[in-house]
Amino acid sequence: MKLTTFLLILIFVASAFVIILYVEPTTPMAKLNTTTNDTVPPELHGIKDIVSAVGAPIDYFNGVSASDDMAPELIITIDTGKVQVDRPGIYEAVYSVSDTQNVTTAAITVTILEDHTPPVIEGANVLYVQKDCAFDFYLGFVATDDLDPAPELKIDTSRINLSEAGVYDVIYQAYDQSGNTATKKVPVHVGTWPKNDENIDSRKTAYLTFDDGPSTETTRDLLAILAKYDVKATFFVVGGTNEHILKEIDQHGHALGLHTYSHEYSIIYESEDAFFEDMYRLEQYLLGIVGYAPQIMRFPAGSNNYVSGDYNQGLMTRLTKEVYQRGYRYYDWNCATWDVGAASVEEIVHNLKSSLRLDEEALYIGAHDTVHHTIAAMDSIIPYLLEKGYHFKIIDEKTPEYHFYEINN
Ligand SMILES: [Zn+2]
Repeated sequence: MKLTTFLLILIFVASAFVIILYVEPTTPMAKLNTTTNDTVPPELHGIKDIVSAVGAPIDYFNGVSASDDMAPELIITIDTGKVQVDRPGIYEAVYSVSDTQNVTTAAITVTILEDHTPPVIEGANVLYVQKDCAFDFYLGFVATDDLDPAPELKIDTSRINLSEAGVYDVIYQAYDQSGNTATKKVPVHVGTWPKNDENIDSRKTAYLTFDDGPSTETTRDLLAILAKYDVKATFFVVGGTNEHILKEIDQHGHALGLHTYSHEYSIIYESEDAFFEDMYRLEQYLLGIVGYAPQIMRFPAGSNNYVSGDYNQGLMTRLTKEVYQRGYRYYDWNCATWDVGAASVEEIVHNLKSSLRLDEEALYIGAHDTVHHTIAAMDSIIPYLLEKGYHFKIIDEKTPEYHFYEINN
């Protein structure tokens, strides 16, 4: 090789080397392709201790994920070498995940217990089925367990004759993975009752609204009464309740509305920011359970409340305007059951009948699904209003708003 040729090659190689060195710190691609320091270790998410029944399979990766600033793909492993699923005890298991240069580990406690506790069957205490109509006996019933995340639920409907009016039993049975069982016998009334028909030619509409729930004690029995007459209602719910019932309300075709997450006057009526922060929390809560956030709402204690004045002077005057800028529509009531504190079913029925005018084209009926007597009261109120020519509808974004005439703070 001639010296000049060698020098040329040397210069070419050297310049290429210099170019690489030159671009390396400025372009991210070059940075990735060469060996640079990845100083940030990957992060593990959703790691938590596990409690499981003897002999039951454990899903260690349920809800577990990892992230990293640089590595595009991460593999999470777990060392469960010390866990003995067949023997009660407290064990340790260790997750690990690595990027190109760092390893992150996280230890959890795995508690294996003997499971002697049977599952719990949640659902209505009585059902109503229109004669000769199909009925979904699963809807509104769920089995839960302290250790089994998904106990099995079976239904025996063999005693029911849907083509003959009468009272029958449906038997629900739940099984957990440790062999514990639970049974719930529910009376099923088969009969013929007045049916709500949204399509009938009537100018008179009734909007049943239920605030402050849902409640595990009462709401499912209310859903059974509403189904009896094929009536759809609107539930202005609060946060931190029961996600199964919220889903059932949605699956039954009822409407969900916002009633603030906390319903604590001292929190929500402290300021505009506090109010909308609490509402946003409820929206996120519902979004996570039913997949949507309603934009219809009701102020706790109504838009004409005085109580907000204890915390912020003039707040309702401002809030009732600002809700529109935020895209909400709010609904008060023009007749009410006054069910909170009512002594009997009869009192609730009387309260409503004496607070409404039967020539009213739209009834916005205020009630609470958290009140025990309200459920039985609806079994009188609904057929009464159907007979007076009302048909029941849910409140949705197109429903004309009803507001109290006066704002008192
Ligand atoms: Zn309320």
